[in-house]
Amino acid sequence: MIKEIQLRILPEEAADEASLKAIAARETGTDLLQIRAIRILKRSVDARQRIIYVNLSLRLFINEEPELLEYTPVEYPDVSHAKSVVVVGAGPAGLFAALRLIELGLRPIILERGKNVHERKKDIARISREHTVDPNSNYCFGEGGAGAFSDGKLYTRSRKRGSTDKILNLLCQHGASPSILYDAHPHIGTDKLPRVIENIRMQILKSGGEVHFQAQVNSFVIKENRLQGVGTTSNLFFEAPVLLATGHAARDVYEMLSLQKIAIEAKAIAVGLRMEHPQELIDSMQYHLKGESRGVLPAAEYRYVTQANNRGVYTFCMCPGGFVVPAASGPQQLVVNGMSPSRRNSPWGNAGVVVELHPADLPTFAHHGDLSVMKFREWLEKFAWQQGGMRQSAPAQRLNDFLHRRPSSRLPASSYAPGLVPSPLHEWLPGFITEGISEGLKRFGRSSQGLLTNEAQLIGVETRTSAPVRIPRDPESCCHVAIDGLFPCGEGAGYAGGIMSAAMDGERCAEAVAGYMLRK
Ligand SMILES: Cc1cc2nc3c(=O)[nH]c(=O)nc-3n(C[C@H](O)[C@H](O)[C@H](O)COP(=O)(O)OP(=O)(O)OC[C@H]3O[C@@H](n4cnc5c(N)ncnc54)[C@H](O)[C@@H]3O)c2cc1C
Repeated sequence: MIKEIQLRILPEEAADEASLKAIAARETGTDLLQIRAIRILKRSVDARQRIIYVNLSLRLFINEEPELLEYTPVEYPDVSHAKSVVVVGAGPAGLFAALRLIELGLRPIILERGKNVHERKKDIARISREHTVDPNSNYCFGEGGAGAFSDGKLYTRSRKRGSTDKILNLLCQHGASPSILYDAHPHIGTDKLPRVIENIRMQILKSGGEVHFQAQVNSFVIKENRLQGVGTTSNLFFEAPVLLATGHAARDVYEMLSLQKIAIEAKAIAVGLRMEHPQELIDSMQYHLKGESRGVLPAAEYRYVTQANNRGVYTFCMCPGGFVVPAASGPQQLVVNGMSPSRRNSPWGNAGVVVELHPADLPTFAHHGDLSVMKFREWLEKFAWQQGGMRQSAPAQRLNDFLHRRPSSRLPASSYAPGLVPSPLHEWLPGFITEGISEGLKRFGRSSQGLLTNEAQLIGVETRTSAPVRIPRDPESCCHVAIDGLFPCGEGAGYAGGIMSAAMDGERCAEAVAGYMLRK
């Protein structure tokens, strides 16, 4: 017999299967020996009160064996002799598009400018060690895209439950922990993501798809508003249809589209700083601890949002027990972001704290037309790089010093490996960013005692929150509004934000391309 139950129990009670089984037996009046297995269907921590509870939804297998797999596997056909579709970019959008194309009986040819995820690791280590950024192999470019060395947080605001479940299932099928299927805030961790990405590539190759690394697309060949195909830096040509999933760090792609007069539109983004606290401080703030350890509870998170000076100000991409990382995608740029390992056990927690920015806020960049927001971002990243000493060392300031507009002579320890340089951020950041962050932080501090402290610091700059450009597409066919055979996809096209939504958009565009090929 299978029985489903809900429990609200203490974290220590929820920590292991034996304890869960005993509680489930007691709650259901079942003999403990008859419970063969337990599957967790949902798990969340409720830390709103002094006593913290774990809410669980459980499936009990009473005198019955559980199914072998916790996920529903997808069977992939052999598409070696099927029609081909070019996918540019092997980030979450490109990889999940490729898997979906195979499911639909089409053969994906992936063109990726960077290296495979294993080789990429060495270039990433070089950024911190030697302060050099390879323009094709870094935190943004290479197999797995910007999602590869991230926290691997898998949240999305999408309400399409079916699609999110499918992506989570696929991640499990390719090696992610089944806990992502039931945790309220699922995450994979930067140490586990590369293996999952390699398994996805192996599946694509096994089914007859192609994956080309160090294949940077540098031209679109168009005749009478129809895309003929794309060319690469190694002089290869690949025929359309083309799914363009190049992410939002690929400035050269936006420049190329603009140069070839392929319609694009400037788009609002959010920019700001990364805020880093000792994780212990965040734990004590969120779990109401007074000198006690958090025990079996996960590293605590926070999320704040407010309106200040008529702009949205919010925290973004919180990485509990994580690291601040140098996420530039080329020389003369300084960009910070965050990641965390699966155990979230670094002594620090960080998050972006960013302010909304609209194209109309940038009159001095208006002459760049649809590239104005991108050009502003580029300018700010270069300015930050100069403030950091023209290396990957990042400019930083203690949090209260920033709020009181005074320089920090010394900085607290940080997870940021290339090192920090004390810098009066409040002086050189554009006024609306300093004002917005200051006002926002003061409001966040009113609801969270302990947040505003000089033990925390702000690190500059956080600019890669979303695409500065939208590549407009027809909402039904997902085809570019003016160019037949071109399918803008994922975060770079302005239709996704984060791993999950990029992966879901990849699936959607793959389905659209399949429909397009049927109609042809
Ligand atoms: C450090 C970091 C941490 C993050 N943490 C999280 C997180 O925890 N959770 C979350 O949801 N999101 C996170 N994000 C954001 C997330 O990674 C992105 O939203 C997501 O990867 C977007 O997917 P995408 O496939 O659309 O684009 P991308 O992942 O950017 O992939 C684009 C791919 O296209 C390739 N490419 C670019 N130009 C060309 C070209 N001309 N020719 C060929 N290939 C090209 C790039 O090399 C890249 O591999 C993080 C990002 C960073 C940088």
